[in-house]
Amino acid sequence: VEDAVQEDIARFEETFVGINKRFRLINRIGEGTFSTVYKAEDLEYTAYNNSWDIDERENNKWSSPHKRNASRKPHYVAIKKIYVTSSPIRIFNELELLYDLRESDSVCPLITAFRHLDQVVAVLPYFQHRDFRDYYRDMTISDMRLYFRSLFTALAAVHEKGIIHRDVKPTNFLYNTTQSRGVLVDFGLAERQGTDWHPCACHLPDDDRRYKVAHSVYAQTQSAGHTASSYPKNDTRNSRRANRAGTRGFRAPEVLLKCTQQTCSIDVWSVGVILLTMLSRRFPFFHSADDIDALLEITTIFGRKKMRETALFHGQVFETNVPSYSEGGHSLEKIILWCTGRTGDKTQPKKELNEEEKEAVQFLHRLLECNPFKRITAQEAVEHPFLLKAYE
Ligand code: ADP
Ligand code: MG
Repeated sequence: VEDAVQEDIARFEETFVGINKRFRLINRIGEGTFSTVYKAEDLEYTAYNNSWDIDERENNKWSSPHKRNASRKPHYVAIKKIYVTSSPIRIFNELELLYDLRESDSVCPLITAFRHLDQVVAVLPYFQHRDFRDYYRDMTISDMRLYFRSLFTALAAVHEKGIIHRDVKPTNFLYNTTQSRGVLVDFGLAERQGTDWHPCACHLPDDDRRYKVAHSVYAQTQSAGHTASSYPKNDTRNSRRANRAGTRGFRAPEVLLKCTQQTCSIDVWSVGVILLTMLSRRFPFFHSADDIDALLEITTIFGRKKMRETALFHGQVFETNVPSYSEGGHSLEKIILWCTGRTGDKTQPKKELNEEEKEAVQFLHRLLECNPFKRITAQEAVEHPFLLKAYE
């Protein structure tokens, strides 16, 4: 363990008086936007009241509590130190949702949580996993089937509870490549799906809502008392507010378009971005920090026509005067061929994806469906032929 990490651990133990009575901190394993995560040994380990723990000796398999009690092996946990700048509501939300999901064996459960002054700490069982960046380039289609079977099983359980994760991405799905099994973590941005949600299409576009483009694209939305002809730059209307929590590059079009009735299907889009990453061997696939640029990145693939329809569906108008975006976009197959250097020129024969890759692309189409109501659900994905083949 390097010095800087050792110092950080010492500081943590100092500010969190008494933590080392129960935990022996071993290493720092994650530094996210909202927390620092440490690996530690639980010295007071007793059977946690779920059958969910990892048996280290048995190659990371889940074992029953009585079996675990029979042995005296070190028991590892992940200690998530939530930054003190996080709002209490946010922290409470994360802990509460984790509690709701405690029965699900593909969501990393909460063992306990405690507070010292303004510092809150959550303790989770340690899950052995590999860094996504170390394996995504080498994944075969069979590996992908297993990965997404596990991820969609987890997501289906979360969605079944009416919970939207909102931040599905590789660092929040800890995957053990040996076991072909993973767990979802980080419910810091998760929220309950509204019970009164209805298709965004019921807000058909009118002149009050526009999505105008000057030199790139410009977003403004409605409020009362403006003229339909007003240009965005003179527009005094308040912009529409919608939850946009998530990570750049993984946001669904409806999030970028400020749809106020977002559903669990936003998570399915994010999974689609992960599959696109694996198939194209590019990570991150989308880069833009800004929502408008992110929409344009999506436009380069799906084309203007699709984006106009999608915007309209959410009561927005999408216009761009940038000529380089094609009307019809490009097929996902072509994009994957480009990204993997398989585009034949005039002198070379046309290159194609192999049969298995084509199956993956068909599945990908169902995930990266711009219309959230046509997009496949997590439960349907589990039953999709692409994932069912994982069992063969
Ligand atoms: P943040 O909200 O800061 O993103 P996360 O809950 O996503 O926090 O955790 C950050 C990182 O810590 C994860 O990407 C992962 O590498 C590591 N981590 C989190 N929970 C566990 C766990 N239960 N077992 C092993 N590593 C974990
Ligand atoms: Mg995270």
